[in-house]
Amino acid sequence: AAKRLSRNSFQFFDRSLTEGALERLITEHALRGAVTRNELRLQYQPQVRLSDGALVGVEALVRWQHPDLGLVPPGQFIPLAEDIGVISEIGTWVIAAACQQLADWDRQGLHLPRIAVNLSARQLDEVALPATIATTLQAFTLQPERLELEVTESMLMRNPDAARALLSELKRLGTRISIDDFGTGYSSLAMLRILPLDQLKIDQSFVRDIGADDNDEAIVRTIIAMARTLGLETVAEGVEDAEQLAFLSHEQVDLGQGYHFAKPLPADDLLTHWRERLSPNSAARTGAF
Ligand code: C2E
Ligand code: MG
Ligand code: MG
Ligand code: MG
Repeated sequence: AAKRLSRNSFQFFDRSLTEGALERLITEHALRGAVTRNELRLQYQPQVRLSDGALVGVEALVRWQHPDLGLVPPGQFIPLAEDIGVISEIGTWVIAAACQQLADWDRQGLHLPRIAVNLSARQLDEVALPATIATTLQAFTLQPERLELEVTESMLMRNPDAARALLSELKRLGTRISIDDFGTGYSSLAMLRILPLDQLKIDQSFVRDIGADDNDEAIVRTIIAMARTLGLETVAEGVEDAEQLAFLSHEQVDLGQGYHFAKPLPADDLLTHWRERLSPNSAARTGAF
């Protein structure tokens, strides 16, 4: 009986493995062609200056418009893209699409100071990355400081020397560099001090519990103090309500990003929101973005 049971459970395990592998193969195949089939989309989430509510930039967030699955969020395909070696192609597309959009908005009268894009760990290993970025900025005649590159602590700590060399090269180019999801990784103050950073994004896990958890409020205060010591601009991610906003404003965090201001929006919707906000009798002028 024991033997049969183990054989049955083995068969079950084996079958589910096969189904998983097949599903992965199909997705993998589809993802390999996503860029050439023009299935990637960017959405843009406003970054708002807390002192006066000004829109100072947007973060570009990639989605995959899959013919059957609909709009697939990045968490569901970026790790696979890294595994199968197409992240470089996707990353290059993201940088170009973001720069093109910033230039388009300039022409439409929405002058955004800057746009932020997320880099993946694999992109940090690409020797051609700075040249790719330089070429893209030139193609759209954008000043380098209008492009902000987001990297995470874990990406930097994987190979600190290589990361430092690459960031220095990007800094020489003139782009801004931001450290994303801050507080979730293990970077040291010593490490942060030697990197050419401009901005630090407080991870949304800490922002979420403001008002609910005294420990998280203490952590947020500590992160802000540290950023100030390092001379970095601070951004709070995942700001969802007025109470969080009040706390962050009181602590003099520079910028906020989150559903309280706006969700990530397609380019046209962002332009519409912006125009409504600027219209003379708009209620939105004094409220959230
Ligand atoms: P991230 O860079 O930390 O981006 C913030 C994420 O939080 C986004 O999820 C955004 O939609 C979400 N978010 C914003 N405000 C709120 C809020 O108030 N509440 C909550 N609960 N969530 C909020 P999204 O778009 O699903 O992106 C997830 C992650 O995927 C990003 O985290 C980033 O690490 C990665 N990613 C996105 N676009 C790209 C890309 O072009 N390249 C690479 N390599 N990674 C990307
Ligand atoms: Mg980010
Ligand atoms: Mg983040
Ligand atoms: Mg995050």
